[in-house]
Amino acid sequence: MTQQSAPQHVSSISELDRYRSLVAKQQPTWGDPAAVQAASDDLASQPPLVFAGEVDRLRERLAQAARGEAFLLQGGDCAETFDAATADKIRDRVKTLLQMAVVLTYGASMPVIKVGRMAGQFAKPRSSDTETRDGVTLPAYRGDLVNGYDFTPESRATDPSRLVRGYHVSASTLNLIRAFTQGGFADLRQVHAWNQGFVSNPANQRYEALASEIDRALRFMEACGVESSALNQTEFYVSHEALLLDYERPLVRIDSRTGAPYGTSGHMLWIGERTRDLDGAHVEFLSHLRNPIGVKLGPTATVDDALRLIDKLDPEREPGRLTFISRMGAEKIRDTLPPLLAGVRDAGATPLWVTDPMHGNGITTATGYKTRRFDDVMNELLGFFEAHREVGTVPGGIHVELTGDDVTECLGGSENIDEASLATRYESVCDPRLNHMQSLELAFQVAQELKSLAR
Ligand code: PEP
Ligand code: MN
Repeated sequence: MTQQSAPQHVSSISELDRYRSLVAKQQPTWGDPAAVQAASDDLASQPPLVFAGEVDRLRERLAQAARGEAFLLQGGDCAETFDAATADKIRDRVKTLLQMAVVLTYGASMPVIKVGRMAGQFAKPRSSDTETRDGVTLPAYRGDLVNGYDFTPESRATDPSRLVRGYHVSASTLNLIRAFTQGGFADLRQVHAWNQGFVSNPANQRYEALASEIDRALRFMEACGVESSALNQTEFYVSHEALLLDYERPLVRIDSRTGAPYGTSGHMLWIGERTRDLDGAHVEFLSHLRNPIGVKLGPTATVDDALRLIDKLDPEREPGRLTFISRMGAEKIRDTLPPLLAGVRDAGATPLWVTDPMHGNGITTATGYKTRRFDDVMNELLGFFEAHREVGTVPGGIHVELTGDDVTECLGGSENIDEASLATRYESVCDPRLNHMQSLELAFQVAQELKSLAR
């Protein structure tokens, strides 16, 4: 780490633990304190999942995005599960993100920073502590780090040993991601291969056409003797909502070079809409870590909220340190986002602004499926670009829930998934995700917006 990237203030362990005296929302009630302590001790003895140097490099990349010199693509499951951490599923999610990144890079002629909602996205905030089905009430599912999804008392009981299992599943997920992205699979000469195995559809065909253009360009560059490692491997980072403090705190490590604390559970950590209270435990805890920090901002967020979050989480106004992820809803974004952008800009702060066009657009069908309309997602996306155009600020990235599988969880898209089709392949244990094709369509739309921005 260079001297320049060291913060002016390095938090001490006692500062790091200050959050313990504050209210931490959305934490599970563990039954057995000794078992929680044992899990915590175990985690504290494990190697870090990510390293300080990587975290610092991501911060620098995000600073570029905040200046409009790069674009953030952040995506993955709403809730990862231990069972779905298989080689095939991880590969397909990485492939989908790589394909989207190519579409964006080619469309916008700008570097795309790839960040998975992966290798740690195992804890979920819930609107209710319990769930009732057919007159039976059980604890709500809080993510695989806490309890099981099956609707039985045994499965829904909290189990602190899941914290340790979550660490190991994250480690094997990250191992595979590192192999895929550093070991030749992410070679740009593989652009066609990333598309294989997916059912042929309009988005895939459009992608194929683009891949052929890239191929030609690469062959031209090779013929000219251009060789660059940037073509055969790619940086890929991981992120998750830092919700469960009994998981995050034991994974903090002090960097030997600077003495600064890093959350080593993921490169980028974010604070959710339900836990961003200024006097709450999450904001306090994360304020002491060196990682890039994201904060979700919903439609009730005020300029004052945003400015106080900046003061608390990014007092030194360090480029790349803070990302605001707005999730307003398609109906509201054109009214709610511009004043926030203007208020923050007028205060002289330059956080990275990213849109999450998913979480403000949830609906439930008459048949009980949680879903989202692809059109609403696209509409919020366009509203995000419009808001930035209006205020003169930088639209720096997108944050989406997606999977590489051909699931049927969101309505619409060019396959026209309707309410009756949702049952065909609905696999999410939490929020509905864009499937592979909807993800590609979205990437093409964003590329279009970025292109017109560059004009
Ligand atoms: C999420 O990202 O899955 C989530 C719960 O988002 P939010 O905090 O914005 O509601
Ligand atoms: Mn979600």
